[in-house]
Amino acid sequence: MTERAVEIDVRPDTSGMFQVGATDAQKLDTLAHDYGFDGPIEMLEEYVTDSLCPGICMHPACSYSTEVEPDCEAGWCEECDAGTVKSGMILAGVI
Ligand SMILES: [Zn+2]
Repeated sequence: MTERAVEIDVRPDTSGMFQVGATDAQKLDTLAHDYGFDGPIEMLEEYVTDSLCPGICMHPACSYSTEVEPDCEAGWCEECDAGTVKSGMILAGVI
């Protein structure tokens, strides 16, 4: 009963519509640093109550990031011209 930390369960994504070269965890880490956080947990804690949260393009060669709805799994990437942006909340398995 002592643990009050937000549990971040990073799951392997086996249901993806495309192959990715980077893992969800790596993308999440990149995203957190893009937004100036020390790591994903700090970022998620900051955005957990917001209506938007940072998301990142899952294409291996792209690291476009933008704010999306927390349950966004196929947000628009302006670099790739495709719906490849996933929210950090999804990446972290929070949602
Ligand atoms: Zn992209």
